[in-house]
Amino acid sequence: MIYLDWAASAPPEPEALEAFREAATAHFANPSSPHGAGRKAAEALEGARARIAALLGGGGQVVFTSGATESNTSFLLTQLSRQRKADVRGRAVRIVTSGIEHASVHEQARLLEGMGLAAAVVPPGPDGRLDPARVAEALDEDTALVSVMLVNNETGAVQPLREIVQAVRDFSARTGRRILVHTDAAQGFCKVPFTPAGLGVDAVSLSAHKIGGPRGVGALWLAEGAAPGFLAAGGGQEGGRRPGTENLPGILGMTAAAEKRHAGMAAERERAAALSSALIEGLSRIPEARLFPEARRAGTQAGAYSPFIVSFGFPPLPGEVVVRMADARGIMIATGSACSSRKKSRSRVLESMGIRADVALSALRVSTGPASRLQDIESLLAFLAEEVLPVRGLSTKGTR
Ligand code: PMP
Repeated sequence: MIYLDWAASAPPEPEALEAFREAATAHFANPSSPHGAGRKAAEALEGARARIAALLGGGGQVVFTSGATESNTSFLLTQLSRQRKADVRGRAVRIVTSGIEHASVHEQARLLEGMGLAAAVVPPGPDGRLDPARVAEALDEDTALVSVMLVNNETGAVQPLREIVQAVRDFSARTGRRILVHTDAAQGFCKVPFTPAGLGVDAVSLSAHKIGGPRGVGALWLAEGAAPGFLAAGGGQEGGRRPGTENLPGILGMTAAAEKRHAGMAAERERAAALSSALIEGLSRIPEARLFPEARRAGTQAGAYSPFIVSFGFPPLPGEVVVRMADARGIMIATGSACSSRKKSRSRVLESMGIRADVALSALRVSTGPASRLQDIESLLAFLAEEVLPVRGLSTKGTR
């Protein structure tokens, strides 16, 4: 099997499995219990919290969640508590997101819109990246939150977060309007070097299973003082922001994976860059191949795209057909976001970049990780040339 779908989920790191097993057995007690076993579990939990905070550069607060989805949705939901105050003034609190956000931000913003909030969506450029000036244009006196992801999960486009934050802060300085900036860093954590303080953001969403940790666990990092009302109540765990008995094995597994991947990030980025270059080069020898975005072919500015993700297609051949053919040959790739593939929807992300809907339908996503080898990319390219191109030829017959 050739696994090239690491952005959907990564195989577990042995260190994560060991930490998970150890926590599940040694720290089975409830961290909220006041007895000795509970205190030991609480100690392990707080240790993990400090270790994740350290990987993020220190400072702020780490709230453990069930994954980046929950981190995103729960943070966006906090804006409802601000809406209550805005209602008094007869205005709608406004959330600004982008056209390339993960469904857990995009759809959650739609849901909040249905509940009376206002939402604006900033489209990216054809290169899949946002222009900070366009984000600034979307701000107004009712804007309470800007949510822009760090690394797009379909194209790998790294967003100019620091510049976007600067544009928001400039607007706040001019208007006196306090605006929070949140970033979904599910595809950035331990893959793209960053710290929340360096970006200047107020909140960051993380996921464990994208970096070899267990699934069903993640975190929401909050800057000091950036915690508006969370809309879930219960036993008061996680500072009252995420009630429910903590998933301690998951949390310690995530922490072990994050420490390993964070330490190896520079070397892994270099290795991934060699793989993505080989893939892009191979595709450039196939005239029928389209790269999404095309700008990536030219060798773009350093750091503009994650080396772990490459998106391309053979229009008009639907990506789904290629994914099935690849699967039959033991090669696991994706059409785009695994989370929305079940919805059979077209790629909202690619279409927002101005790519025609029928072309966007051809999208394939290859994503790599520490176990990926150049041989995997070569096998994929051979498969594309030997099996996919002839089928594409058939599918275009009669249309010329
Ligand atoms: N955001 C992005 C950018 C993602 O790629 C994903 C995973 N597809 C998520 C959020 C959701 O993460 P999780 O599976 O941890 O809920």
